[in-house]
Amino acid sequence: MSSANSSFILQLTHSIMKNYLLFLLLILSPQFSFGQEVAAHVFELIDLDYPGLEKVKKNYNEGNLDFALDELLSYYRGRQGINHPDIDLNQLSLSPRELKIADEGLKHQFFVHKGYQPSFFYGEDIDWTYWPVKDNELRWQLHRTKWWQPMGKAYQVSKDEKYAKEWTLQYLDWIYKNPLLSSSSASTEEVSSGELASVENVRFAWRPLEVSHRLQDQTIQFLLFQDSEYFTPAFLSQFLCNYHKHAEHILGNYSQKGNHLLFEAQRMIYAGAFFPEFKQARTWRSSGISILNREIKKQVYADGMHFELDPHYHLAAINIFAKAIRVADANGFRNEFGADYLSTVEKMIEWVINCHFPNYTNPMFSDAKQDTKQEMLKNYQEWEKIFPENLSIRYMASDRQRGAAPEHLSKAFLSSGFYVFRNGWTEDAIQMTLKAGPPAFWHSQPDNGTFELFIKGRNFFPDSGSYVYAGSAEVNKQRAWFKQTRVHNTLTLNRENMSQCDSKNLIWDRTTHHIERLVYENPSYEGLTHRRSVFFVDQSFFILVDEAIGEAEGKVAIHYNLCEGDFKLDNSKHRINSEFEDDNNLVLQVFSSSSMAVLKEEGWVSYAYRQKAARDSFAFELEKKDKSTVRFISVILPTTKPEHLPKIKASFIRTQADELQVQVQINKKKYRVGYRTSEFNVY
Ligand code: MG
Repeated sequence: MSSANSSFILQLTHSIMKNYLLFLLLILSPQFSFGQEVAAHVFELIDLDYPGLEKVKKNYNEGNLDFALDELLSYYRGRQGINHPDIDLNQLSLSPRELKIADEGLKHQFFVHKGYQPSFFYGEDIDWTYWPVKDNELRWQLHRTKWWQPMGKAYQVSKDEKYAKEWTLQYLDWIYKNPLLSSSSASTEEVSSGELASVENVRFAWRPLEVSHRLQDQTIQFLLFQDSEYFTPAFLSQFLCNYHKHAEHILGNYSQKGNHLLFEAQRMIYAGAFFPEFKQARTWRSSGISILNREIKKQVYADGMHFELDPHYHLAAINIFAKAIRVADANGFRNEFGADYLSTVEKMIEWVINCHFPNYTNPMFSDAKQDTKQEMLKNYQEWEKIFPENLSIRYMASDRQRGAAPEHLSKAFLSSGFYVFRNGWTEDAIQMTLKAGPPAFWHSQPDNGTFELFIKGRNFFPDSGSYVYAGSAEVNKQRAWFKQTRVHNTLTLNRENMSQCDSKNLIWDRTTHHIERLVYENPSYEGLTHRRSVFFVDQSFFILVDEAIGEAEGKVAIHYNLCEGDFKLDNSKHRINSEFEDDNNLVLQVFSSSSMAVLKEEGWVSYAYRQKAARDSFAFELEKKDKSTVRFISVILPTTKPEHLPKIKASFIRTQADELQVQVQINKKKYRVGYRTSEFNVY
């Protein structure tokens, strides 16, 4: 055995023995008086000159470490002046759902992920490596220990010590079974398979994102449990050492970029603000603040959208930036944030106000899931605390009872490529949100051109969603289905995924005939550019013109994925209409420059993780035989009674290289829409 190997085994054995002894001692008696070795370690981490720690320091200097720890616990229990923005112990309530999570937590049936319900049982003797479904999220998120906070609330509300006792046991069990082994240990050849599992486990238990999650939540758990008889001085020293190790681990292992880095930075601000007694507290706080000050400039487009182009992560990013401000406000350090920080957060919120729908639901582009009105009201109410003067935030936060709707209706977010057509701000409005932006990252899908269309409370074209993240081949296959271009409302060549998402805006305006226009193009495939024009006519219906331009040949299709419910296809007319009984209906009719087939496709929509519902999806397909451009016209018209469908006609009037003109007739009324290339924006 090499010296490196033996050193690793020694390190492992020492770590396990030390933790196990402490673990045994602590479970024997909650009143156990803490030993000197660990107390000494805690006192190395704390600044004993911190105001309020005078008695701790005196006992420590006199060698009375047990008394010093007693004093430290008394200090924390009576501590004033450190404010937590996310919890108020005087106004706690426990929902039935939280009580269920807490009670199941007592039985080691841990709430790890809402996509995997009922929760799995992790064993009488907890197995922190149990991985019942090979979805990475299930393994990672176990280490977010999300059931501990409900246990803490259940403890505060009931004062039943069983919750505190179990929490301390689980907390110490976690420390004991999830040692932070160095990654170099993983290459040790002669380590047994059991030990290798421990090294492998570090990748899950100590991934910085999960560490940051615990770093934030444990500030709340500390408040919820600190008065328990099971929260002994000995436990306090264990807690503080473990907490310190967490923050130091992030300090040396921040993620490279993206939302993970934002989460980690914000939670380091929490760590520094909540435990200012640590010698390192200032370093943690300032590292988090400087990262957020830097990243808000890098990760947010000039129009306010987060660069991952995912409404869910956009929301998460807002809440990260906002939480950092709220903890700073609660503890008096807002001035450490940059001058543009607040105005950027405000712009990010304005993206939400514009792009989400009037019933508070969001488009499910990229990896976004469906948020509920209740969740969004809560978000707006938090944001209103930071921006009390913003009338639109107030309007949304109050469910339209106070404040005022924005003065504009339609709006383009030109740098991130989101376009919103709307005719009002209330639930009886029509609103389309369309995505056609620059390249993005892992969370974004090859879906440029896709849209959701909300009409009077019904979203007729919800995005397919994402269903699941990453893991085994089976899980990845499920994810890949929802990511496909063809399950979005856009154009495909041979049903393949777009090879490039990098759309350029060509026109965004309103004509003298009150037609709102969007023209953009995307180099979707090698040899094929998709140019899509959207005309919002009389603020009441849509004409879409799709052009497939380039040398490529093959089957070109435009796809429409409808909401759940009854839709009727008239194949001879290339027409689909809904048959809802509430007089809120829609007709979609497609016309093309050459002969076209309508094909029924596999259709699913996923509003929540690992949940999906069948829905109707159609492809309107034609053959592109040579380099000539092929074109489609789609008319999307809100209607009332399904038995009274309007007569729709559409044709191309001009298809010159520099001009496109289309005529659409609805019953007897004719409309002309189009563009000239001389009107295109110049880049
Ligand atoms: Mg999608």
